[in-house]
Amino acid sequence: MPEVLFSVDQSKPFREQRVLGHNRWHPDIPPVATVRPGSELRLECREWFDGQIRNDDSADDIRDVDLSIVHQLSGPIAVEGAQPGDLLVVDILDVGPVPQERGPVAGQGWGYTGIFSRVNGGGFLTDHFPDAYKAIWDFHGGEATSRHLPGVRFTGIIHPGLMGTAPSRDLLATWNQREAELIATDPDAVPPLALPPEPRNALLGALDEEAAAAAAGEAARTAPPRENGGNQDIKNLSRGARIFYPVFVEGGKLSAGDLHFSQGDGEITFCGAIEMGGYLDLGVDLIKGGMEAYGVTTNPVFFPGRVEPRYAEHLTFVGVSVDEQGRQHHLDAQLAYKRACLNAIAYLTRFGYAPEQAYLILGAAPIEARFSGVVDIPNSCATLYLPTAIFDFDVRPSAAGPQAADRGRCAS
Ligand code: ZN
Repeated sequence: MPEVLFSVDQSKPFREQRVLGHNRWHPDIPPVATVRPGSELRLECREWFDGQIRNDDSADDIRDVDLSIVHQLSGPIAVEGAQPGDLLVVDILDVGPVPQERGPVAGQGWGYTGIFSRVNGGGFLTDHFPDAYKAIWDFHGGEATSRHLPGVRFTGIIHPGLMGTAPSRDLLATWNQREAELIATDPDAVPPLALPPEPRNALLGALDEEAAAAAAGEAARTAPPRENGGNQDIKNLSRGARIFYPVFVEGGKLSAGDLHFSQGDGEITFCGAIEMGGYLDLGVDLIKGGMEAYGVTTNPVFFPGRVEPRYAEHLTFVGVSVDEQGRQHHLDAQLAYKRACLNAIAYLTRFGYAPEQAYLILGAAPIEARFSGVVDIPNSCATLYLPTAIFDFDVRPSAAGPQAADRGRCAS
C-alpha cells in the first residue's frame, strides 16, 4: 500500500479532520504534501456529502441536504518541478470503499444513489421527477444490490467522480466570468443555470483565516467539469486509467474525491452514481511542456481503466431530438439522450418498477451511452445500452410479454 498522504477519519466531518481538504477550486490553497515525479500515494476520501446521507428508507436527507458543502476533496498534492504548461500524468492504481470498515457513513459497506428534487439540485429528468428519492446499495465484494431496487445486481465500475489540478488565477477569473454571463441570461432559473462562488460553507484547506475569507468570494464551485478535469464523472476512470491533466499552477496541485462504486454514463439523476467514501491510490509523473507539445491545452486526455464489468448483451434504447410534446428540435444531442432515458424508463416500468426506481437503476448501473448520430438533420440520435444480465429476470422483449412483479419501492 502506498503512503497515505491524505487521511480521513470517517467518524468525523470533513471540517474536523486533522488535515483539512477543500470544497472549492482556488490557486492559493496550499498543498497538503509535495511528492517527486514517479511517486505513488494514497488519498483517503470522504463521500461528497460528508456523511449527511443516512442508510434508511426516507429521502428527506436528499431533499433537504445543503449543496453548498460539496464536494469534499482530498488534497491538493503538489508534484515537484510541475510548472504551468506541463502535463501531470496520473495513474489510478487502485480505488475502493473504506477498507475493512462498517458504519453509518457511505463507503462503510454501503452507498447511495439520489434523485434530487427540482428545487434543490434537480437532475437530467427533473421535469418528470421533481421530488427526491433515494436507493441504498449494499456492497458484496465487487457487486452491489439494493433493497430499494430488488431484482438488480451488478459489478461496480469503481472510479473517482472528481479529480483535477488547481486553476491559475487567470483561469479562475475566466470561469467566474463566463459562468456569471450564463447565469445572467436567466438568473431565476430553477435549477440554476450555473453556481456562482458561494462563501457559505467554503472550505479552503490550510489557507489562513484572512486569506480564506478573501478567496471564498471567488473560489469556484466544484460541480462542473472544466479545463482542469474536475467533476467529469467519467465512469471509465477506473483502475488502470492514466489521465494527463493540464498544469496551470506551480506544483500542479492535484485533488480528488467523490468516489463512486458504480455509475451509468451521464450520471443522470445528478447524484446518479453509487456515492461512497473510500481510498484512491495514485501514481504521478510529469511530461514537461506537454500541453503545447501535444496540443492538450483545454481539457485532459486519458486512457480508460482496464478493470471494468464485462457484460456481453445490452438492450439498447434510442432517442432522437423530438421533445415530449412532439416538437421538433434541431440536432439537440442532450434532448436525444433524454428521450432514450425516458424510453428505457417506460420499458422497465412494464416489469413492475416504479418510474423513479427505473431512473435510479439507469443512474447507478454500468449503462453505456453514445452519441450515435449528430449530423442527420434535424434529429440527433442518442443510444443507451442497458446490460441485460444485471437483472435476475429476463428483461428481453419476447412474445411471452414482460414478467411484471412486485418490485418494492425506493426511499421517498
Ligand atoms: Zn458523485
